[in-house]
Amino acid sequence: MTIERLLPGSGLQAFPPPETWDDWREYDPKQWPRRVEKRYMLVPTICFNCEAACGLLAYVDKDAMRVRKFEGNPLHPASRGRNCAKGPATINQIHDPERILHPLRRAGRRGEGQWRRASWDEVLDEIGGRIRTAFREGRRNEVMYHVGRPGHERTMDRILKAWGIDGHNSHTNVCSSSARLGYALWSGYDRPSPDHANARFILLLSSHLEAGHYFNPHAQRIVEGRLAGAKLAVMDPRLSNTASVADYWLPTYPGSEAAVLLAMAKVILDEGRADLAYLERWTNWRHFMADRHPGGELRFDAFVAELKEHYREFTPEMAEAESGVPREKIVEVARLIGGARGAFASHVWRGSASGNLGGWQVSRALQLLTVLTASVGTPGGTSPHGWNKYKPVFWEEPPGQKQWNELLFPKEWPLSHYEMSFLLPHFLKEGRGKLDVYFTRVYNPVWTNPDGLTWLEVLKDEALVGLHAALTPTWNETAVFADYVLPMGMAGERHDIQSQETQDGRWVSFRQPVLRAARERMGESFRFTYEANPGEVWEEDEFWIELSWRIDPDGALGIRRWFESPFRPGEKLTVADYYRWIFENAVPGLPETAAAQGLAPLDYMRRYGAFLVATDVHGLQETPVAVPAGAAKDPVTGLVTAAGKAIGVEIDGNVVAGWPTPSRRLEVFSPTMKEWGWPEEALPGYIRSHVHRSALDAAKGEMVLIPTFRLPTLIHTRSGNAKYLNEISHRNPVWIHTTDARRLGLRTGDLVRVTTEIGYFVNRAWVTEAIAPGVAACSHHMGRWRLHEGEGSRWAAARVSLQQTPDGGWRMRQLDGLGPFASADPDSRRIWWSDGGVHQNLTFAVHPDPVSGMHCWHQKVVVSLGEPGDRYGDVFVDTQRSMEVYREWLGKTRPGPGPGGLRRPLWLDRPLRPAEEMFRTKANRLDPKEDV
Ligand code: SF4
Repeated sequence: MTIERLLPGSGLQAFPPPETWDDWREYDPKQWPRRVEKRYMLVPTICFNCEAACGLLAYVDKDAMRVRKFEGNPLHPASRGRNCAKGPATINQIHDPERILHPLRRAGRRGEGQWRRASWDEVLDEIGGRIRTAFREGRRNEVMYHVGRPGHERTMDRILKAWGIDGHNSHTNVCSSSARLGYALWSGYDRPSPDHANARFILLLSSHLEAGHYFNPHAQRIVEGRLAGAKLAVMDPRLSNTASVADYWLPTYPGSEAAVLLAMAKVILDEGRADLAYLERWTNWRHFMADRHPGGELRFDAFVAELKEHYREFTPEMAEAESGVPREKIVEVARLIGGARGAFASHVWRGSASGNLGGWQVSRALQLLTVLTASVGTPGGTSPHGWNKYKPVFWEEPPGQKQWNELLFPKEWPLSHYEMSFLLPHFLKEGRGKLDVYFTRVYNPVWTNPDGLTWLEVLKDEALVGLHAALTPTWNETAVFADYVLPMGMAGERHDIQSQETQDGRWVSFRQPVLRAARERMGESFRFTYEANPGEVWEEDEFWIELSWRIDPDGALGIRRWFESPFRPGEKLTVADYYRWIFENAVPGLPETAAAQGLAPLDYMRRYGAFLVATDVHGLQETPVAVPAGAAKDPVTGLVTAAGKAIGVEIDGNVVAGWPTPSRRLEVFSPTMKEWGWPEEALPGYIRSHVHRSALDAAKGEMVLIPTFRLPTLIHTRSGNAKYLNEISHRNPVWIHTTDARRLGLRTGDLVRVTTEIGYFVNRAWVTEAIAPGVAACSHHMGRWRLHEGEGSRWAAARVSLQQTPDGGWRMRQLDGLGPFASADPDSRRIWWSDGGVHQNLTFAVHPDPVSGMHCWHQKVVVSLGEPGDRYGDVFVDTQRSMEVYREWLGKTRPGPGPGGLRRPLWLDRPLRPAEEMFRTKANRLDPKEDV
């Protein structure tokens, strides 16, 4: 097919039509003005640079069999062919001359920077043997997998359950678990799925147009909603790009957001703007009234009166005093939200929820507005994520593990929404356990987490961490302290299923290794993906299958059987088997759609990369439930139970599914909070943050530092080796208001020392009115560093010295900035920027919220002019002090066990849910032989 046929007349079109993807031709831009035709095979895959999972199309040069560029996949239901800057920058990552191409084994002391090349066989034999020994010796809790960016759906759940370990650790408690807990307490679903495109009013506690969660798919739909007439309000102490184009910017003092949201709820209630019929039908108000008035009459009007009384103190005046937002604006926005009844879309993910003590009450207060306006699961409203997210199932599900790992869910945080991941080194230092085999996977806690130098101290200690294998596409600050560095594929170099709740609908997408897929389309075959990837870069799917067979070579441990093919009994599972079974059996509508094109489901996904499973997913709480014989019904609440478990709720004579909460209603009142020691937080409320004004010492000049905001062009560790992105963004100055700058005698560009509880960092000031007085801000996406040559990306990471002081502190100093270097990529000689930013997270102590377990990121700091001898990028940290701060926060907890000797409420899920009896402490277990 010629270019002229594809582009008749105009020569312009949005995307290559799918029927041309086997042989797409276009002129080589590098040859311009000569018109030299290039032939490509276009292979879909999924971006791996943030959680949104947008579609990409790899342009595979058919002559060189090399990927030349990544563009958007127009058939992807969420991203619809569009990407942010980080999507196309995948090309930098796969062609980065600094990337790790072969497995490496430590050759010197841990962290010393000495490495030798290893074979995959050596890796598998040593790690597999070590895990086998641990399992045989009953040390299952000493094997742990710790993930930063998952990038797959349920794959690791299956693997870890097959191994029978309670070894799943994640990054979520430094990310979103606080907001998740707030949502989960309401509905049992821990994430929102706003339908921005059809909303009448949108409220964002984020910077979604540039950087929020799922921001590219969401940003498209927010723009669509606004074009259709929706109003947009943004609550953010910082004038983000999103706030700058909103109809309403509500610059709340950090941590005051729940007070403003509850004031809005009060306006809606007091002015009769709430949908009371919805409230009566769907909330658990009866439980609230029964709790407050045991034996009394349960009247809905009395409940409404009590609700109003409960929120009496949240006047617009009080909210203004807490937040600094004018009361008139709070009332105006509240009325617009009330007027958007049924079509109020909102989102909070990180931001205020992750910054503050009690941040989980922010999402709970936000959801109260959604419930009051009857906008839960409606067109234009905010659905629970589970309605819009596809999850695969497998031909066989391994049973829940019969383990409970206290390093993940310790007794002090029985309601912790995810694993207490960022406290792992503190727990190990305290002697709560040790690890024999520790996998980090696309996870860089030394750099990403607070208190990274405590991580470093523990990772260097072989008595605490026996073997550390870092599965990573690139060098990072944590991999340096590994025993094995195992190169894993980027987007376009691995298989995964991905689905996210980006819109009103449900979709599934397929990440695939594009060179392998292209060559297989041309008739080649491969045993392993690393045979087609650059160097020996592998993918996790195949790695885990192989490792599982090495752990249990003869099947005696009962592990191997889970890694056998569903199509060829007894033979080893392949990635083709795995995805073929799911696409043939577990994606509704896919087999029929594929068959209509004469394709098998797996081939359809290989060719197009995505499939829309459902649209217009609304009102699922009204789904009828078949009631089994012997089921019981509570005559007061309508709750229907079978075999002791809630299965639905009777409303107007019909038994319907409701919500996955204990009451099957939306829990405006949480009996769980009351029963587990937090009765004062049983309703959506406002907890004064650890950085509340009253907690600051004005005499010391203390301010609040917001360290949580993303830059649109960078993403944590993963963008470090994307040259285009680092050219665009390479510094993270400290935002400071003009009045504060005047007080401190600061000008833009001056060196500032930012002092935290455990140390300080030195950065430059950016004086601006885009931040509130008394508040400073610094993006966390900067300040990459490397200790040794060859261990880090020179596109982004500065060489540093790191030394321990005689009294146990740590000093880091940048030895040189960024600059040109020689490599196979000529662009590396053209680096014109010298700055890579400053690493601030090292200087943050851990702040585990006593309920959600989330790290509360905001910092109480003193900002001052740099001192004599200070240099840009300097960092000092006292890790002994950081352990003290950890213990101070530990003291805020209210440990379990809870009712019935439970370690955790049975209805609150865990990412890797153990067998049910493991939820009970040993003394309360029905069969105590089932031990940890
Ligand atoms: S929003 Fe950007 S980084 Fe995230 S998946 Fe989409 S293209 Fe990739």
